[in-house]
Amino acid sequence: MNYSELAPSYIRAIAPYQPGKPISELERELGVTDIVKLASNENPLGASPKAVAAARAALEEISLYPDGNGYAVKAALVARYGVTLDQLVLGNGSNDLLELAACAFLAVGDKAVYSDHAFAVYPLATQAVGATGISVAAKAYGHDLDAMRRAAVAQGAKLIFIANPNNPTGTFLAGDELLTFMRALPATILVVLDEAYNEYLPENCRYDSVSWLAEFPNLLISRTFSKAYGLASLRVGYALGNPQVIDMLNRVRQPFNVSSMAQAAAVAALEDAEFVRRTFDLNLRGMAQLSEGLSKLGLDYIPSFGNFISFHIVNAAWIYRRLLELGVIVRPIGNYGMKDYLRVSIGLESQNCKFLSALKQILGETA
Ligand SMILES: *Cc1c(COP(=O)(O)O)cnc(C)c1O
Repeated sequence: MNYSELAPSYIRAIAPYQPGKPISELERELGVTDIVKLASNENPLGASPKAVAAARAALEEISLYPDGNGYAVKAALVARYGVTLDQLVLGNGSNDLLELAACAFLAVGDKAVYSDHAFAVYPLATQAVGATGISVAAKAYGHDLDAMRRAAVAQGAKLIFIANPNNPTGTFLAGDELLTFMRALPATILVVLDEAYNEYLPENCRYDSVSWLAEFPNLLISRTFSKAYGLASLRVGYALGNPQVIDMLNRVRQPFNVSSMAQAAAVAALEDAEFVRRTFDLNLRGMAQLSEGLSKLGLDYIPSFGNFISFHIVNAAWIYRRLLELGVIVRPIGNYGMKDYLRVSIGLESQNCKFLSALKQILGETA
């Protein structure tokens, strides 16, 4: 027999998540060395040395289970955001929180709304619990909030996923657009606002979504330590929301979903504002470097508010493979309905240079 048939049909229908190619895999497959990976929106500065030291110190106690309540991390977040402990839940990366939201609030046959070209985990988390995803057409590659609200209401959806900024498009919704959306939405529909790239927003784009929690008990905000804080491998994120919603997420999460190394590093990372500042500044310069470089090569890109940029290019799949041969890993995003685009993460100046010159060389070959 085919054992996949033991799985429910909605599990069999899942298209697996396609991660960025690891450096070691490219080395193994093509024998390429001196590789630059700009494929997973990782922090090119690494992590705060204070966070690394804290994680290392926590190694001494790996025989003990971590604090299942994540008290130290939550206490640091309480101090920062002025929320209460019961408004916080930690996740094994914010990916975990997206899945927990789906698991806690969606049953088989329920509906969740998200946008075309939005983060791939929303359909995955929805399908994994047997719920039905409704993907709403994008507006200039970004979320069309009015259309999403109308679809959710018309189809009786229970949950809406929103990424701001969105990955892989980098598009951004201004705070007042989100507020208008929340005010028009029935309070019976839960909104998961995924702010994985929040720390990269320029000053004039920042908005205080945490303060909205008082007005919207149906709002759940997720954030991560994987991007600006540089702790992608440790897997730690958090969600802020109404205590009743948080309570439901806590019931379905694993009791020890965040390791003690991750918790220790997260606390230290939160205290290292200087590291986040350097990350932000480097990203700003790198974004300018890559945007100008792409323009010079005659390529169109989608203006991005994250730590990555998606650009239009013919034969994207072939260009991706040629870039691999030249030691540069970017991300094809055909599975996001964008087969003529590639996404490149902002790296160090020298890494961005290497990417741009490899791309220039390839475009020269095809001309
Ligand atoms: C990277 C990313 C995440 C989550 O990453 P974690 O490492 O699981 O925290 C969530 N949402 C978006 C839009 C992302 O790009």
